[in-house]
Amino acid sequence: MERTLAIIKPDATKKRIIGKIIARIEQEGFTIVRMKLVHLTKDEAKGFYIVHKDKGFYDSLCEFMSSGPVVLMVLEAENAIKLWREVMGATDPAQAKPGTLRHTHGFSIERNTVHGSDARDTAEWEISYFFKK
Ligand code: GDP
Repeated sequence: MERTLAIIKPDATKKRIIGKIIARIEQEGFTIVRMKLVHLTKDEAKGFYIVHKDKGFYDSLCEFMSSGPVVLMVLEAENAIKLWREVMGATDPAQAKPGTLRHTHGFSIERNTVHGSDARDTAEWEISYFFKK
């Protein structure tokens, strides 16, 4: 069993589609092992996205991620990291495959509805960033 960090981003909580996204997560066979609704501070968002600190979109991304509540979740499944990234779709909703969450609900490359860890080491770091052991 593998674990990944999932985030329902502020564009999605604002659109009141938390329930739809969670229903999809359960339908795909994930077990939600931790979950909380929080309004991140900009500093918390900056810490989370520190790998992107040199990118032109860093400030805008952190502003967006702290603009409203988010749902933080730890998802468990076999190959959870890869499976959740498949369900999310490509970063840019315009490039994401039909049926993926980002294709269906994403507004832009930044306001793309959901987050998912991209590898085992980042998943472990991201989970520990938001959830104490
Ligand atoms: P992910 O792993 O698919 O979430 O993509 P990345 O790790 O590359 O980027 C992290 C997040 O930054 C994405 O989910 C987007 O919200 C945002 N992002 C990525 N690329 C861009 C971009 O070119 N412009 C803007 N404004 N935001 C971006």
